[in-house]
Amino acid sequence: MGRLVLNQLSRSFKNVSAVKNISLTVEDGDFLVLLGPSGCGKTTLLRMIAGLLEPTSGSLELDGTDITTAPSKKRDLAMVFQSYALYPHLSVAKNLAFPLHVRRTDKQEVKKRVGAVAEMVEIGHLLDRKPKELSGGQRQRVAVARALVREPKAFLMDEPLSNLDAKLRTATRQELAGLHKRLGATFIYVTHDQVEAMTMATKIALLNGGQLEQLGTPEELYDKPASVFAAGFLGSPATNLIDAELSTSNGSITVMAPSVEAVLWDGQTPQRDVVLGIRPEHLSIHAPGSSAAAPSSGAALRGIVDLAENLGSEQVIYCRVGGNRVAVRTPRGQHWEPGNAVVLSADAKNLHLFD
Ligand code: ADP
Ligand code: MG
Repeated sequence: MGRLVLNQLSRSFKNVSAVKNISLTVEDGDFLVLLGPSGCGKTTLLRMIAGLLEPTSGSLELDGTDITTAPSKKRDLAMVFQSYALYPHLSVAKNLAFPLHVRRTDKQEVKKRVGAVAEMVEIGHLLDRKPKELSGGQRQRVAVARALVREPKAFLMDEPLSNLDAKLRTATRQELAGLHKRLGATFIYVTHDQVEAMTMATKIALLNGGQLEQLGTPEELYDKPASVFAAGFLGSPATNLIDAELSTSNGSITVMAPSVEAVLWDGQTPQRDVVLGIRPEHLSIHAPGSSAAAPSSGAALRGIVDLAENLGSEQVIYCRVGGNRVAVRTPRGQHWEPGNAVVLSADAKNLHLFD
């Protein structure tokens, strides 16, 4: 559909710098998720892309054409709003036809396009209903279909699932991901929800304080977080972060921290003071002295159990390790009590070191 290039895009409001120097490219067919905590600039960035807000500096290019100052109408981008903004008194068919009537499209053509789009998003059986006779997920599909009849170059969405309950959110998320696959269209989608980002995105732009913190596939962000912020934002519970110090001996690097034993690291890093990151699902928990407690290459942390939280299918054990609180995800069935002394171990390949 379109290739969108953001070039050092910035936007300030009086003394607030909402978006700072963001450069990235959205390729044809991407599902790009703008992810980050509340206030990090996601909506501001999306509104600049939509043409609803002018950048303070930087430029935007769509299919090779500069659109930095082009009005919203001229961009052929479809903003799908959170409320879906369907006309309540019109049937689904009339809602879909509306954007075409506005453009004075020929009657036969309208009928054809509405039929084709309804089939694409599987709402052909709902055409005679009014919006209030639809479920939240169906309304979402109608909203997407109404954007689709205009044949936009991309779909823009700002937290479209945030008003739905948990069950409907999951269903609609899967529906949107399926829709993206079927249509092969470009989506730019704003959310603060890491699960939405991980499950739908082909590419995630992680924002922090108006800046682009990391850009990559969901796997890249999860497996190779580029910063303490990225490691801490993705994952549940968040990645454990432990202050550590490096020392070199025999060509391998050892990470030293209070209550950390025998952390061996083969990677290269010039920094002495580091932060060691380990995801809760990459730690295993053992009784001190058991043979599994000391990996030949990796980390072994000495700790005391603080709290065991039962999540139904698994449990999260929170331990005190030196001055840090470290979470471990384990299967149920292992019994650990507060006060138990334990050793937590992780493989070297699952250790992340940050400056
Ligand atoms: P997000 O969508 O990630 O929650 P926003 O883009 O809405 O973040 O906001 C980013 C920052 O810009 C926030 O500090 C917000 O208060 C500020 N901001 C956004 N819009 C305006 C505005 N119209 N006037 C003043 N400040 C704004
Ligand atoms: Mg927002």
